[in-house]
Formats: sequence, structure tokens, C-alpha cells
Amino acid sequence: MRIDLHEIINIPGGSVSFDYEPDVSSLDFHAVIETLEPLRAKGHVRNIAGVLVLEAEISSKLRCACDRCAAAYVHDLRLNIEAVLAEELSDEENSDIYLLDGDYADLDEIIITAYVLEMGTKFLCKTDCKGLCHKCGKNLNEAQCTCKGDINPQLAVLEQLLMDK
Ligand SMILES: [Zn+2]
Ligand SMILES: [Zn+2]
Repeated sequence: MRIDLHEIINIPGGSVSFDYEPDVSSLDFHAVIETLEPLRAKGHVRNIAGVLVLEAEISSKLRCACDRCAAAYVHDLRLNIEAVLAEELSDEENSDIYLLDGDYADLDEIIITAYVLEMGTKFLCKTDCKGLCHKCGKNLNEAQCTCKGDINPQLAVLEQLLMDK
């Protein structure tokens, strides 16, 4: 979606808000099984002392497969974005600056870029997911297995010492 900023572009203190659902149906992420709530972007562009600042919250609810244990879980996506909209890139180092197209800004470019970056992170059913045992395939969140290979190396050394006695 393009947002029309002509009403605030030269008016410090001005604000334009938006609330829409960017179309990301063409994007495919391996971990996503099902979209439970579509991607939604809510926020505003404000003219703060002559600088156009975009602030948005993006959210979505997805059923995903955990990268470690493969269990399905509900991924609550919530992300806050802040970006500066400018007529030219004065500071090329700063990637949070987006170019205006006349009086318009391309919201999709900003929102979907942030979304894709977020989706590039790991999908875990919980941050400390123990995953599957690489030997027997047991889900280690449910029960510990008896595979020797899972003992941490320091303990293995200790065990070896005890066995040698
Ligand atoms: Zn998991
Ligand atoms: Zn095992």
C-alpha cells in the first residue's frame, strides 16, 4: 500500500495513521503450516520537527513447525518498526531510512522487509526447546532418552574416569 503524506509533509506535528493487511500470500516460509491471523500493520507517520518518522506494530498468528523438535505450535508474531522517510538518502549507512516517492511512501516495502527479516529467524516452540535426540529421535522435551551420546563432554570424561577405577 502507498500512503499519501501530502497533508503532513511540510507540517511539523502532523500525523497520518494506517491500519491494513499487507498481502504476503506469495511469500513462502518453510516453517509455516497455516496462517491463523493474517499479517496486519498498524501505525502512523508523524512529522517530528520536519522529519517524517514511521512507527508501526506488525502482528500475525501462524501455526509453525518447530525447527528443533518439529512439533506444531502457535507462533505469535509481534514486531515494532521505526523508520525515517526522506526525499534522499543522506546517510547510506542507515538502513532504516526509506525513500519517499513524491508525497507518497511505499508502506509495503517497509512492512514486508521487516516481516521477511523477522521470518528469517529460527522458529522454536519455546526458546529452550531441547529438540530431538539425533540418535534415537526421541523428543527430549517430553522425556530424556538413554543415549550415551547426549551426555555433555565434561560429564563423559568424568564418567570415563569413574569407570577406569
Ligand atoms: Zn521445539
Ligand atoms: Zn536418544
